[in-house]
Amino acid sequence: MNRHYIFLLQFIAMKRMYVVLVLASVLSACIPDLPTEEFSSETNPALENYFAAFEREAALRGFDINLADHDLISTIDEIEEDGVAGTCHYNSQESNRITIDLSFWRSANTSTRELVVFHELGHCVLFRDHLEDENNQNTCLSIMNSGTSGCNVRYANNREYYLDELFSLD
Ligand SMILES: [Zn+2]
Repeated sequence: MNRHYIFLLQFIAMKRMYVVLVLASVLSACIPDLPTEEFSSETNPALENYFAAFEREAALRGFDINLADHDLISTIDEIEEDGVAGTCHYNSQESNRITIDLSFWRSANTSTRELVVFHELGHCVLFRDHLEDENNQNTCLSIMNSGTSGCNVRYANNREYYLDELFSLD
């Protein structure tokens, strides 16, 4: 299973489809009652425990985060790109969107699921970029690594360390 590991956190920075927004504007001009600028926040029920854990771990480190306030749509769905476990798309004009790959989800244990969900929340909620630092044991120093640098995340045995690092925000 380890041979797929470095791809698990690969993050695809897809550009937003502005064309869709333009079409929506045209449509709303024809339909006066269509609500505009309405954000929606939806969480796949399978992710709720992980989201609650994220809020709890944030609170333990002094951050008051309520994910329901974050305009976040989260889904578990097949991601076409091989080896990508999750993506975060963010845009100031729309709800942020987290997608967790269904095949990954079915095969992963609780710890690895948490790792990927927290990584995507790191992008979409904490607005963190990738960080590729590693130590001389080839261990990633952050769960915000991209999965492409070749370091290994040893999350299950070092959860407290990684969560301290995740929430060490400026
Ligand atoms: Zn990422």
